[in-house]
Amino acid sequence: MLPVSALAGADSTMPALFLLLRILGVLLLLRLAGRFFAGLLQGLREAPSGRRVALQGELVRDRICNTFVPRDRALRALVAGREEHFCSTACRDQALAGTRTA
Ligand SMILES: [Zn+2]
Repeated sequence: MLPVSALAGADSTMPALFLLLRILGVLLLLRLAGRFFAGLLQGLREAPSGRRVALQGELVRDRICNTFVPRDRALRALVAGREEHFCSTACRDQALAGTRTA
């Protein structure tokens, strides 16, 4: 549905423009691909260290069920004036109830 005159008038400049756009497109694709692979490599490099940190993360003991919980994931509560760590609210509540009844 394009007017024929418009196509005919642009005939001499269009191939050069298309070539330029194609080169730009390829460069853009290469750049994106490069960034993608760089990110992929960085992700591979960072993943093992992240896992190591998680494994080496300080563990705190939940005295109610005798489980070790990573400190950053443990629930904290003051039991009889002392800060204690728990794996779940159930354990925390049990510890708090224990001090209340004892
Ligand atoms: Zn527990």
